[in-house]
Amino acid sequence: MSQRIAILPETITNKIAAGEVVERPASVIKELLENSLDAGATDICVEIAAGGRRLIRITDNGHGMSREDALLSLERHATSKIRTDSDLDGILTLGFRGEALPSIASVSRFRLATREADSLEGTEIVVEGGRVRDVKACGMAPGTVITVEQLFFNTPARLKFLKSVETEAGHVGDTVARMAVSRPDVAFSLTSDGRELLRVQRSDLRRRIAQAVGRDAASGLHEVASSGGEVTVTGFISGPSVVRSAASAMFTYINGRFVRDKVVQHAIMQAYRGVIDRGRYPILALFIQVPPGEVDVNVHPTKHEVRFRRQASVHDGLQAALEEVLRRSPWLAHRPEPAAAATPAPPTGQAYRERIAAAAQASLALPVKPAPASPAARFAPAGGTGMERSAAAIPPPEPVSVREPVEPFRPEPAAGESAGYFSSLAVIGQFHGEYILCQSGIELVVIDQHAASERVAYQRLRRQFRAGGVESQRLLFPETLELSFSEAALVGRFREDLARIGFELEPFGGATVIVAALPRVAADGEGMRLVRDILAELAALGTSVAFDGAIDDLLARIACHSVVRGFHPLEGRQITELLRAMDETDFAASCPHGRPVSHTITLGELEKIFKRT
Ligand code: ADP
Ligand code: MG
Repeated sequence: MSQRIAILPETITNKIAAGEVVERPASVIKELLENSLDAGATDICVEIAAGGRRLIRITDNGHGMSREDALLSLERHATSKIRTDSDLDGILTLGFRGEALPSIASVSRFRLATREADSLEGTEIVVEGGRVRDVKACGMAPGTVITVEQLFFNTPARLKFLKSVETEAGHVGDTVARMAVSRPDVAFSLTSDGRELLRVQRSDLRRRIAQAVGRDAASGLHEVASSGGEVTVTGFISGPSVVRSAASAMFTYINGRFVRDKVVQHAIMQAYRGVIDRGRYPILALFIQVPPGEVDVNVHPTKHEVRFRRQASVHDGLQAALEEVLRRSPWLAHRPEPAAAATPAPPTGQAYRERIAAAAQASLALPVKPAPASPAARFAPAGGTGMERSAAAIPPPEPVSVREPVEPFRPEPAAGESAGYFSSLAVIGQFHGEYILCQSGIELVVIDQHAASERVAYQRLRRQFRAGGVESQRLLFPETLELSFSEAALVGRFREDLARIGFELEPFGGATVIVAALPRVAADGEGMRLVRDILAELAALGTSVAFDGAIDDLLARIACHSVVRGFHPLEGRQITELLRAMDETDFAASCPHGRPVSHTITLGELEKIFKRT
């Protein structure tokens, strides 16, 4: 009988572990940054080349390692962070599994140089594919420098799964940004192919968030500081007027560790329910502290997931903390009724729900559809930052940039001059600034003017796209837009495609892009918001699906931004033009939102209502 079972050599077990921990350059960087922070570093430099495939180098000024520890750190399950079984229940460091260094060293050409402050020289260890090649003394500043070259050179399957240089660099940028937000007291820098993408000095959280998500957004943040029971929540959250179409500006941490956790996510969205639109996400950085014994971070090797001992109490504690801030904040500030003015009781949970529901109904919370109606006045902001102003109660702010004049709405001439159905209608008038009422024989035709304009714009965009590209309009003063690193990577990857749908976006260093031109139909709307929405659509595409496959959704998104929402009186001439344009629109073709555009009420139906029959 032969022996079938053998214990694997460590070079192989490390490679297997690497499969779990090291997915891509960004995961290497996450592990190394965690180590630097655990080592007490206050200044960390990250350099990458070719998105991290060719080179990753992290330099920190932490406590470094002795020669013995440096050699040990490359052994599997070697850690300075826990000693006993019971330590696992109270982990205060970011690392503890003792797996990262040996895993990374097993799938790259790896160099560790490290020096303790009270030591005269440092130690340099060179490892190739998990085999130590060289150990020697070296001169260096106190701290640690880890260099990872040719990641996955010996695991071709992994190498194949890496995405483009821009995409990988984008993930690295996001990883560094998450770490940077978690530790404003530490200086970080990130350089990619010699270009500086990020440099932040030590500062406070508010400033750090601004550096990560953009100054425009950060000015509308509100502080959260709650410490009820076991769950402590601190940080900043945005109001409903500063939202994003992707969750990329939601930084959530549990005991200092960045997590993407369903319970946390759910609690946040519950708190914002009724305050922001579906498909919109707040900007926030939230630090949730729970006693270490209450949370298990050892669920997955990447430690992005956690498990709570008392899930409901974390969920409700977090939700309550956010609702508390949302309730106090200016956009929901409630002008007390005169009678109750003396002692306005703090709203109960129920009252609060009703209020946010009412606010949502008044469209306060629907940034793309500012409502004109008066019910909203009740909720008019009582002072505040100005960022949170409600579109309902206050006239829209002066545009900050000057644009070239836009041509007035002018339908393309009809092919034949024979009047179509809509042109043949007798216009009765406009109802509520949103509907056009017409008569056709013995029928009353009600047209939703927004839906109609949107459909007309959509068809026009499709025609333009097929004829070579969506017409674009240059901005007189290009605007800069601060994105997440992965969004900026999308701009790089889809630049040509974006040009075909009317956008001219140029990288401007870091995660900033310059918006030089927009699709003409949407150029006088909220252009920057449109750009963000389009990038969110592109992000959802991934890489495999062709841009052209999603073109209808993208054009629909642009069309949606081209339409003036809410109460919008039209002159007779504009109504006639719209009806004519509708006749040139293929209403049978796929429509942007699937909403009806017109509705017919027959004389018979009216007579029934009035009980004439
Ligand atoms: P873990 O972080 O889970 O302990 P790692 O494999 O990431 O495991 O690191 C192994 C050990 O090497 C750490 O416990 C720490 O003592 C040491 N180490 C790693 N990186 C650094 C660093 N940048 N500075 C000082 N010590 C470090
Ligand atoms: Mg570690």
